Amino acid sequence: MSVLEEIAAVAEEAALWRRDLHRRPELLYALDETAAFVAGKLRAFGLDEVATGVGGSGVVGVLRGRPGGRAVALRADMDALPIEEITGAPWASETPGAMHACGHDGHTATLLAAARRLAATRDFTGSVVFVFQPAEEGGAGARAMIDDGLFERFPVDEIYGLHNLPGLPVGRFAVRPGAIMASTDRFYLDILGRGGHAARPHETVDPILAGAHVVTALQSIAARNADPLASAVVSVTTFHAGNTDNVIPQAARLSGTVRALDGAVRAELEASVGRIATATAAAFGAEARLAYERGYPVTVNHASPAARVGDVVESLFGSAAIDRAAPPMMAAEDFSFYLEKVPGAYFFMGNGPSAGLHHPAYDFDDAAIAPGAAVWTALARASLAANG
Ligand SMILES: [Zn+2]
Ligand SMILES: [Zn+2]
Repeated sequence: MSVLEEIAAVAEEAALWRRDLHRRPELLYALDETAAFVAGKLRAFGLDEVATGVGGSGVVGVLRGRPGGRAVALRADMDALPIEEITGAPWASETPGAMHACGHDGHTATLLAAARRLAATRDFTGSVVFVFQPAEEGGAGARAMIDDGLFERFPVDEIYGLHNLPGLPVGRFAVRPGAIMASTDRFYLDILGRGGHAARPHETVDPILAGAHVVTALQSIAARNADPLASAVVSVTTFHAGNTDNVIPQAARLSGTVRALDGAVRAELEASVGRIATATAAAFGAEARLAYERGYPVTVNHASPAARVGDVVESLFGSAAIDRAAPPMMAAEDFSFYLEKVPGAYFFMGNGPSAGLHHPAYDFDDAAIAPGAAVWTALARASLAANG
């Protein structure tokens, strides 16, 4: 029986799980129902070990095949987003203000389908570790699981993660070696001036004027500090100051995002933001106070796991189904934390012509479950069959 035939029956049921999960979206780490659903399924499939509460609300299932050999981790994320759903689907969110707008319901169902199939066959040597993580949407759930001893308790040789991608046809996949998703850091910048009467500007230090120059000067980082062949995003995304027309305010508050596809570029951008904000504000007699927070690192795929994803997809669906040189994106993914510890790869699977990720009309396409679960199943077997 081919992997696709194996998966077909499971995928049909997994679509019902997916819709169940979609109806009951939960946010960040508060995944009581979702985690219980996942753990219940893994136990029902007969996994050898099911651990809950890993990194807060993460669930880990271990499936052992023939003794010895390697171990591979397959990861899905479980959390939803604080968005009001407008799909009107029969399985639409029943929780006001929350929805699965990033398809993590689909990722969870797809990985569960693979777990069920692999548990039914156990036709491999070694172990498959199924990682269901909380808080991918800004809460660094991956780091929480790692800090909670994920890789010490469940050592693996490789780890893989997938994300659905609107615009890529269902049944098609994309991967690349090297950086595939960006780092995302954020900054908060207080420009402290001296307020006063708007009729007597010479007695003030105008934080709005200074802040405006800081915004403009920060644009020179991507244009003049970063290598033109590297990728850099530096954007001021908020600017708040003042309340009325006849007062020059005391201070302005700005914040923004900084993104890169390379760790060294990331560090350069951080230094440049500090230097330019401080010196530009000072040129106007104002003071810049910067709080800079590092978020998710660059997601860097390791070469041979990325090639393995390509080979597996090609063996199942042909070479037209896989883009092995997908362009990287400036969005971020906390799968990056795993790849800093363990070799592996993060790849995309097509979600067809759906609304975009994080859009209130987005929905995961259930037709993606079968190809996704087939790739998971074959990828686990291929990783375990590899020699180091
Ligand atoms: Zn998302
Ligand atoms: Zn997502």
